[in-house]
Amino acid sequence: MAEFHLNVDEDGIATITWNVPEKAMNVMSSQGLAELDAHIDTVLGDDNIKGAVITSAKPDFAGGMDLKELGAARVSARDNPAQAIFDNVMHGHRILRKIERGGMDPKTLKGGKPIAAALPGTAAGIGIEVALACHRVFASDRPGPQFGLPEILVGIFPGGGGTVRMLHKVGMVNAMQLLSQGKMLSADKAAKAGYLDEVVPADDLISRAKDWVRGASDADIVKPWDKKGFKLPGGHAYHPAGMMNYVGAAAMLHGQTKGAYPAPKALLAVMYEASLVPFDAALEIEARWMTSVMMDPSSAAMIKSLFINKQALEKGANRPAGVPDMRVQKLGVLGAGLMGAGIAHVSAKAGIEVVLIDQSQEAVDKGKAYSEAILDKAVARGRSTDEKKAAVLDRITATADYAALKGCDLVVEAVFEDVGVKADVTKLAEAQLGEGVILATNTSTLPITDLAKASRDAGRFIGIHFFSPVEKMALVEIIKGGDTGNEAVAKALDFVRQIRKTPIVVNDARFFYANRCIVPYMNEGLRMLREGVNPVLIENAAKQMGMPLGPLQLGDETAIDLAYRIGKATQAAMADAYQPTGTEEVVEYLYEAGRYGKKTNAGYYDYDEAGKRQGIWRGLSEKFPRAEDQPDVQEVINRLALSQSFEAVRALEDDVLLDIREGDVGAILGWGFMPWSGGPFSYLDILGAGEAVRLGEELATKHGATFEPPKLLRDIAAAGDGFYARFGSQSKAAA
Ligand code: NAD
Repeated sequence: MAEFHLNVDEDGIATITWNVPEKAMNVMSSQGLAELDAHIDTVLGDDNIKGAVITSAKPDFAGGMDLKELGAARVSARDNPAQAIFDNVMHGHRILRKIERGGMDPKTLKGGKPIAAALPGTAAGIGIEVALACHRVFASDRPGPQFGLPEILVGIFPGGGGTVRMLHKVGMVNAMQLLSQGKMLSADKAAKAGYLDEVVPADDLISRAKDWVRGASDADIVKPWDKKGFKLPGGHAYHPAGMMNYVGAAAMLHGQTKGAYPAPKALLAVMYEASLVPFDAALEIEARWMTSVMMDPSSAAMIKSLFINKQALEKGANRPAGVPDMRVQKLGVLGAGLMGAGIAHVSAKAGIEVVLIDQSQEAVDKGKAYSEAILDKAVARGRSTDEKKAAVLDRITATADYAALKGCDLVVEAVFEDVGVKADVTKLAEAQLGEGVILATNTSTLPITDLAKASRDAGRFIGIHFFSPVEKMALVEIIKGGDTGNEAVAKALDFVRQIRKTPIVVNDARFFYANRCIVPYMNEGLRMLREGVNPVLIENAAKQMGMPLGPLQLGDETAIDLAYRIGKATQAAMADAYQPTGTEEVVEYLYEAGRYGKKTNAGYYDYDEAGKRQGIWRGLSEKFPRAEDQPDVQEVINRLALSQSFEAVRALEDDVLLDIREGDVGAILGWGFMPWSGGPFSYLDILGAGEAVRLGEELATKHGATFEPPKLLRDIAAAGDGFYARFGSQSKAAA
């Protein structure tokens, strides 16, 4: 099936239109690239054609490369994968370079044909890379579309000439700023940043591009870097000015990534090396680094978890079959505290009518003001308008009157973490609601099956667990109670899709999935602290392995009094079955010192009056003196990484987790589990199950049962398998 179509008008201007069948957004596959190549050959070879415009028949231009194809590149190129990847990337370079040269004589730079890009909407990744190879880039002024090179976010970097062309077009400092963060910009901003040439009225897009092609001279189509005497904007890496920038960029990048990710390092290396050589050699350097990144298991794992599987879950991979569309029309939220206010906000923003309830008008007004404050900030930053803000706030009815819940088809409860209070509000709400409604609780610790007892229909009762702050955190954990039915699951999934978050569906057990795994990570940090490991070593090892927060900082952020109370409640609930974690003494010490964490400006860390984190609190070493022998940083890393990963495996063994894709995606989005690894199951696959068992056994003899390798891991190791090899992209239930 054709993905690119060629038309030639009576003036001899060709239009190459991208329109991948059966897809809402164009993505580039090897098939598409071959078609584009053939059309370019026609344009350049046919004397009746004067030039071309490359555009799209869809509202947007392109979403990027076909990441499924890219993610599989290493595996599909069996014999000599590095060579195959390199050849492939170079093949792409040659096609785009052919567009850029337009058939001109490379010596005289004359006789080429002008080729313009006309972008009707969003162009990402290869979409922008194709445009950058053209001689002029036009974009429609329609509001909404975004333009840029976001590859870094899925563990690669722009390898279709995007890194080298951006470097040559806007200089290293600007290119690095855009590419190292995967920034997508509006048309106006992208034009200002220098990678779109003209932003024109949507209706005139093609005609303006054709006009330009018609009038373009030989000189108009020669890229600056193909002219003699070209100087790289900002200077190359050995230039006095450029040198300073490269040194700074290396330090800044390392500060941001702690060296945990292969792609940003490769990105900077390309910028450095490419700045010193002629353009075609620069492209070859880009291809070599791209090959190195694609050969690193991290990139395939990141593409798999952060793109392919994340998207599959968002599209309802685990939605019960046969349940009709359950999208929410009117949502009730019980409790207008931190969580309730956040849930009301994101729902109203997604266009859902919301009734927000609390004990008093004052409390709900405060909850609604939370939304107003977020919207005010967005307006001030130019990300929203006063009209949009008013429309969102209009959708939130803030009241203490339960009668306002009439007509709601989903109610999410977010009152105090107390079984009695939750039961009371469930009953009060149900008294106002029709039979079909689904009741959900945002509890973080209480079993859903128990809370469902207060409801008249446990089959229509479910956990929908948000993370704080709701407006920022992408993950939502949906928890099935013992009696929860399929309609409730479908409702929760449809709701999460409406508010554009990523769902995982898990079974009901203490701490569900995310909190269950993050606790061993924090505990391991505290255990080391108690043993006399230098807290700075603990925190830095965590950063070095790619965790966003060290266990002590995380303790401060999540509040130490909360950890203390949850610890006490767990002990009470488990009674004789409770196994001390070896962290009780540390938490109690902080709790008794009134150091509750960031909110009290005092925790494992000291804070200044403005709440800015300072150094580690000296009181820690008074109580837990530093041991003379400090462990190797790799041992600290292994303890922090395996404590979480083994718990994820146990959650799978216990049937809390039903799908390793959910386990991986949920871990990255829920608690920032080393994104470079693709999640705990991908991490264990990268490490190798056999090596993970060996490390676990070694650590278990020194540091206890946390590290006892789970049986499933041992099985997988014994079979010479991996988690994805065994479960693939199927859920565990289906495997
Ligand atoms: P919060 O204390 O900020 O808010 C609770 C709100 O419930 C308060 O506004 C309170 O007035 C209201 N409330 C209490 N009793 C009520 C009643 N009888 N009727 C109506 N409203 C009542 O707490 P929060 O942090 O928003 O947590 C709410 C729920 O979300 C808890 O179950 C908590 O475990 C869970 N949760 C919290 C977080 C978090 O990070 N804070 C994360 C996930 C889940």
